[in-house]
Amino acid sequence: MISVKNLSKKFGDIVVLRDINANINKGEVISIIGPSGTGKSTFLRCLNLLETPSGGSISIDGIDLLGKETNVPKIRQRMGMVFQSFNLYAHLTILENLTIGPIKLLKKKESDANKKAMELLKLVGLAEKAYNFPDELSGGQKQRVAIARCLAMECEIILFDEPTSALDPTMVSEVLSVIRKLAKEGLTMLIVTHEMEFAKNISSRVFYMDEGIIYEEGTPEQIFENPQQEKTRAFIHRVRSMYYNISSSNYDLYKLQGDIARFCEKHVISQKTSEYAQMLAEEVIVMQKDYSDINIILSYSEKEGTLVLTCESGGEQYNPLEDEFHEIAVMIIKGRCKSVEYSFSEGKNVLTLGIKNE
Ligand code: ADP
Ligand code: MG
Repeated sequence: MISVKNLSKKFGDIVVLRDINANINKGEVISIIGPSGTGKSTFLRCLNLLETPSGGSISIDGIDLLGKETNVPKIRQRMGMVFQSFNLYAHLTILENLTIGPIKLLKKKESDANKKAMELLKLVGLAEKAYNFPDELSGGQKQRVAIARCLAMECEIILFDEPTSALDPTMVSEVLSVIRKLAKEGLTMLIVTHEMEFAKNISSRVFYMDEGIIYEEGTPEQIFENPQQEKTRAFIHRVRSMYYNISSSNYDLYKLQGDIARFCEKHVISQKTSEYAQMLAEEVIVMQKDYSDINIILSYSEKEGTLVLTCESGGEQYNPLEDEFHEIAVMIIKGRCKSVEYSFSEGKNVLTLGIKNE
């Protein structure tokens, strides 16, 4: 149904989409996930021509979207878009919000448009709000109206751009339920979302976007249970990291420990584990021989609840774990960790400590 080839988009010198390739079949529900700033919104906006692509091609049922003769309003009508921020007309009733498009653009009779709009409001559970104004509705209700408005335009494809990001947590599920219902009815949908459980349950395929491309794609099982790429894995497991670079033995230990404390606080890691992490950082640094380029990395996997401290250092190959001189430090470290490993690769000494959770 939709075919995207070598799609690229630049804003000035900034390349946002490098080379997007995708084929989407009728009735598919595609979730698009990925870190912010990776071009997910830009991709959706290129699809319905809210942005003009810099290169490549997009076609819908064989019609070239970027062709000179293409009827852009007609294409847009086939492809509705639901935004984070509802975009309803504040001065029109809910019913009028649904009928204005069909009457003005699809040239429908008012009575037919009203009838269809009421059916759709029933579908999204808001028939009793037909004569209210948008301001009188909650965020979740407004978003359901926005979805019904797309359907009123008889669109065949709906593009959702983080439809629940602007909502209170209590209202997320009512919107997701409506989207789930539409998926069952066979509507073709592309959904940019941060709701991983939802994406996992609803999608036929998942696109992970990063570095201006569809970095990895697959079924929800493939992407969520067995991602092949490291970046996808990190994103799925919500691995958050902090980095600290040391370039001389006069480094600021207190700053490092403060950074670790803040990182742990932010990720609701216990006080005790935080203190372990600070102490372990100090111990691993003390054991180093070459202070010219040490990287301390603390990574926390939200999904697995594990905290890992990594110390990378340059210089010659040196494993402090096997150095008698550090016997006591190594004992302390081993007592506080689930795993302690050393490796040497690409000119880097790497110590990896899996910190015990307390
Ligand atoms: P995402 O939706 O994945 O968070 P976006 O598609 O919104 O990412 O944005 C990707 C990048 O493109 C960002 O760095 C953003 O600043 C930039 N960008 C988006 N729209 C514009 C624009 N109209 N002009 C300039 N830069 C833009
Ligand atoms: Mg976005």
